[in-house]
Amino acid sequence: MLKEHHKWFEHSIPLIASENIPSPAVREAIISDFGNRYAEGWPGERVYAGCVYIDKVEVECMSLAKKLFKAEFADVRPISGVVANLVIYSAFSNPGDVMLASSIPAGGHISHGKKEHSGTAGLVHGLEIEFYPFDAEQMTIDVDKTKKKVEELKAANKLPKIAMFGGSLFLFPHPVKELSDFLKSYNIHINYDAAHVAGLIAGNQFQDPLREGADTLTMSTHKTLFGPQGGLVLGFEKHGDVIKKATFPGLTSSHHIHHMAAKAITFAESLEFGKDYAKQVIKNAKALAEALSDFGFKVLGEKRGFTESHQIALNVLDYSDGGKVEGDLEKANIIVNRQLIPGDIKAGRNYFHPGGIRLGVSEITRLGMKESEMKEIASFIKNVIIDKKNPKRLVSNVKSFRRNYQKVQYCFDKKLGAYEYVKLR
Ligand SMILES: *Cc1c(COP(=O)(O)O)cnc(C)c1O
Repeated sequence: MLKEHHKWFEHSIPLIASENIPSPAVREAIISDFGNRYAEGWPGERVYAGCVYIDKVEVECMSLAKKLFKAEFADVRPISGVVANLVIYSAFSNPGDVMLASSIPAGGHISHGKKEHSGTAGLVHGLEIEFYPFDAEQMTIDVDKTKKKVEELKAANKLPKIAMFGGSLFLFPHPVKELSDFLKSYNIHINYDAAHVAGLIAGNQFQDPLREGADTLTMSTHKTLFGPQGGLVLGFEKHGDVIKKATFPGLTSSHHIHHMAAKAITFAESLEFGKDYAKQVIKNAKALAEALSDFGFKVLGEKRGFTESHQIALNVLDYSDGGKVEGDLEKANIIVNRQLIPGDIKAGRNYFHPGGIRLGVSEITRLGMKESEMKEIASFIKNVIIDKKNPKRLVSNVKSFRRNYQKVQYCFDKKLGAYEYVKLR
């Protein structure tokens, strides 16, 4: 089944916005013996022996992370984006405190969510969540209404402890600069969750949260940042100790050393190739959005040119719903995800049958695709959704379209095929 999966992806158009394809060097680090070791604690202060080389790699990993994101402090141990967020909740708030975050139809992630939705912040750390007012036309947080809401919360004795920016449906930068002085005047800790846009920030093509007033930056290392699955926390030296303790012993025992090594390689790749990559990602996203809009699709964020990130969101209610469209496209080897969009919850739609789909161009860009390929992809999507062609009939066209894009670009070594199955026995 593993081999079948590799073959399928070799022949597919992978458009899941939270995914990417790592380089051969990253894949090699993942299968190294580091994956079988423990290195609890901080380099030089480990709980066990056997960490001579692990410590050297981790020191290098932290130094590369700091250089890439121009940060004073880096903790490379959180094993995922969710764990990185939990580090922030644990370090800077107590159960019962209030956090300001985006709702899911407004782009928020379930790790910022309420207890009643089994969201991590509420369920695991006992935070009360208050949603940012959202401007659906501009597809971002409403600055003036947010200020008003914070003042109302203060009057009700519910002043937030943390303001969480960033999200999962994330087309345009969030107003960190516009809100940071205001939030700081109330002593609110500002965290920016860059899980989706970390690679664009690293490549200097999105916003720069640590310069705009964010205190800390959390992320996954495998979305637009093209590394192994993992997490990362960045910030300022003054918060270093409290973050270190929250990560270990608070939220990790083993911190998945093989992924740590692979993160170091990813940071080096991003320092070298990240800018060119991020530029092409954004060009591709705009090209795909424009081509889809030209075919008559309702692309969100039209007023602002559809997108400034790696993502595109479509409202597909003219044809069916996000769930049906996701399934039909999958039959044509086009892999996307259904997406709750603004207005869905009010209209009674749910996560299984939402109004939208989300497309991401991170992985196809890493495979070397450019603007002209985006037009072809838009046309495949039109064939399935608007023309209602039998998706199975399209598979052979998708396969031949994919044939020329089988190597990972924007990395040091391109010997191994992107989806080549590695056999060790
Ligand atoms: C994907 C995502 C996460 C979760 O990251 P994992 O690495 O899968 O744990 C956290 N926050 C946001 C905004 C995300 O989109």
